[in-house]
Amino acid sequence: MTGPSARIAIVGGGLGGLLAAVLLQQQGVREVVLFEARERLGGRILTAGADGALADPTRVATDRFDLGPSWFWPAAQPQLDQFVDALGLPRVAQFEDGDVMVERAGTQAPVRVRAQPDGAGSVRLAGGMASLVAALSARLEPGCVRTGEAVRRIRRVDGQVVLEVESVAGRTGRTGGTGGTGAIGAIGAIGETGEAGTWRAEQVLLALPPRLAERSIGFDPPLPPELARRWRDTPTWMAPHAKYVAVYDTPFWQGEGLSGAARSGRGPMAEIHDASVPGGPAALFGFVGVSATVRRGVPEDVLRTHCRAQLARLFGERAATPLADVLKDWALDPFTATAEDAESGGQHAAAPPRAAHEGAWAGRLAGIGSEWSPAFPGYLAGAVDAAIEGVREAVARLD
Ligand SMILES: Cc1cc2nc3c(=O)[nH]c(=O)nc-3n(C[C@H](O)[C@H](O)[C@H](O)COP(=O)(O)OP(=O)(O)OC[C@H]3O[C@@H](n4cnc5c(N)ncnc54)[C@H](O)[C@@H]3O)c2cc1C
Repeated sequence: MTGPSARIAIVGGGLGGLLAAVLLQQQGVREVVLFEARERLGGRILTAGADGALADPTRVATDRFDLGPSWFWPAAQPQLDQFVDALGLPRVAQFEDGDVMVERAGTQAPVRVRAQPDGAGSVRLAGGMASLVAALSARLEPGCVRTGEAVRRIRRVDGQVVLEVESVAGRTGRTGGTGGTGAIGAIGAIGETGEAGTWRAEQVLLALPPRLAERSIGFDPPLPPELARRWRDTPTWMAPHAKYVAVYDTPFWQGEGLSGAARSGRGPMAEIHDASVPGGPAALFGFVGVSATVRRGVPEDVLRTHCRAQLARLFGERAATPLADVLKDWALDPFTATAEDAESGGQHAAAPPRAAHEGAWAGRLAGIGSEWSPAFPGYLAGAVDAAIEGVREAVARLD
C-alpha cells in the first residue's frame, strides 16, 4: 500500500497529544504525525483575550482568560509542576483574599460570608493554560501537525495500521460572546467535511477522551468488546460544563474586600471565581449550573444576559457592564463531548485500560488522553502522566 506514512500517528492535539509528539521527537522518533480535528490546537485548553475573542493558542500573551482548565495543584501534582517549571512558564496564585458571596435558591438577597482560603493551593498560568500549548507547539518540528483533520476510521491492514482522515471545515461547537468568535463560533454537529486521506503507521496513540474515541472513530476489526465498553463508559471530565468569563478594566470587587468568589443556588452560575491578570485586565469566571440539556434550549446571548445579571446581584452594578464577556459550552462541542456526556456527574472516573493486550490491536493502539491516567484521570496532570507513560511504552515497542 502506498501513500503517506509515519512510525507513530497521534490522534488529538490537546495537551496529551502535543506532549507525546514533543517527547517522541526528543527521543529521536522523527516520523511522527499528529491529526487534530479542530482548526486550533489545545483541545479542552482554550483561552479568550481581553476583548472576549478566542485567542490563538500558539501565540503567547498575558491578557488571556481560560474557558477550559484554569488551575493545577503543584503540591498534589509534582510531575505537572516540574513540567511547568521546565517550560519556564510563569504562575499566578488564585486570588482568594476577601469575603465570598453566597446566594441561596429563590429571591433572597445574596450574603457576604467571611471565608478562609480553602488551602488547596490552586495555581493558574500567566497567559492562561494556552501558554502550555504555545510552549509545546514551539518545540515541535515543523510539518508534523495536521489541524482541521479528523480521524474517522482506523484499520489493521497487512501488518500495519491505516488511518482514514477527513478534512473538517469550521463548526466545532458553540462559543459566543461580545468579542466575536470567528470560524469556530457556530453551533454545529461534526461540521462540513472535505476530502479524505489515508495514512499508514506502525502505532497509533489516541490522545482524546476514551469515550469520544470509542464513539466517533470506527475500528476495523472492532475493539475487544470489554475494552470498547470500558472506554464508552468513561465520562469525559468537564464535558457537560459551560464556562462564562466577564472582563473588566479593574478588579473593583477586590477594593471592597471581596475575593470574587461566589456560590449560588439561584444561578445560572453555581460557582464563581476571580480570573484577573495581576497588573492587567480583571475578570470573573463562573461554571454554569444549568444542565447541558436545559442549556441546549437557551440562546447563548440569553444565557450571557442572565450571567451578567447574576454578577450584578453578587458584586454590584459595575459588574453588569463588562468590557467583554464570553461563554463556552463544552457539551455542544463534538470534539470533546458525546451525547452521553450531557448529563454525567462531576466525578472523576477511574481510568479504563489503555490498550488491548491481545488480538489485532495489541501493541498497535493505545490511549494517552487525560482520562487514561490512573493517577489523575481527567486532569491536566493526567494528560501529562498518560502521555509520558504512553510514549515510554510506544518507544519500547519500536524496532
Ligand atoms: C471547563 C473545563 C474546566 C477544566 N478545569 C480544569 C482544571 O482547572 N484543572 C485541570 O487539571 N483540568 C481541568 N479540566 C480538564 C482538562 O482540560 C483536561 O484534562 C485536559 O485538557 C485534557 O487534555 P487531553 O489532551 O487529554 O484531551 P483534550 O484536550 O480533550 O484533547 C483531545 C483532542 O483531540 C481532538 N480530537 C477529537 N476527536 C478527534 C478525531 N477524530 N481526530 C482528530 N482529533 C480529534 C480534539 O479536537 C482535541 O483537540 C477542565 C476541562 C474543562 C472543559
